[in-house]
Amino acid sequence: MAVRMTVLASGSRGNCTVFSSSGGSILVDAGISCRETIKRMQAVHEDPLQLKAIVISHEHGDHVAGVQVLSSKLKIPVYMTEATYDSWRKSTRDAEGKPAKLERREHFHAGRSFSIGDITINPFTIPHDAADPCGFTFQAEGVKIGMVTDLGYMPYSVKDHLRRCDGLMIESNHDLEMLRNGPYPWMVKQRVMSRVGHLSNSALADFFESDYDGSAAFVVLAHLSEENNYPELARRTAYKALGAKPNLFQASTLSIARQDKPLQPLCL
Ligand SMILES: [Zn+2]
Ligand SMILES: [Zn+2]
Repeated sequence: MAVRMTVLASGSRGNCTVFSSSGGSILVDAGISCRETIKRMQAVHEDPLQLKAIVISHEHGDHVAGVQVLSSKLKIPVYMTEATYDSWRKSTRDAEGKPAKLERREHFHAGRSFSIGDITINPFTIPHDAADPCGFTFQAEGVKIGMVTDLGYMPYSVKDHLRRCDGLMIESNHDLEMLRNGPYPWMVKQRVMSRVGHLSNSALADFFESDYDGSAAFVVLAHLSEENNYPELARRTAYKALGAKPNLFQASTLSIARQDKPLQPLCL
């Protein structure tokens, strides 16, 4: 079985992605309900019983909403940083109103790689307004996939981690003009636009044009805003910026992650 990435959901109403190798699979973020996660996995022929763990990027609700139920139903551990866990616990209550707990949890540290089965995970710090937010690269069977959403800009260190990726999932959150003129209150607009907010279509295009090495066989644009972006606009902006990269010349290798339904698995 090839190494594959399957985006089950992406956007401010929930994020969840399966990363699989022949040795098993992991779930990255659990921002949709347990029932919906399992339903979507089955729809794309990913077996929930193959899941070995859940890895959490940061504690915002759209990345953790389903984590408690999923981890206890599937009896699998949750990997997150200690600061993310502490912050999640403070804002989450169990059925009795006490701070929530995850019985089976493991802590990782940004900058220190760890393994789950035959998958090596390399977490790194991203600029976002959470306790200890992380992006990841995943390596298995000789291929490397990068996943980074929820970041206000692309620091040098993140660009460095994304070199020589065979597959890439990256945020293309908003169109700046749509955000400026859109319905959000000014405070929210400020947050999204800030250095710890979300990556715009044009900031991503800058990365593609100036720093990206074009090594990935597929690129997935992720965490699109439903109010301040259009999938076609994000796609056109990215495609134009990627135009000069020979590996990505075919539009079929550029896809848009959806909020409402899973993408077909992307295999390497
Ligand atoms: Zn998010
Ligand atoms: Zn977030």
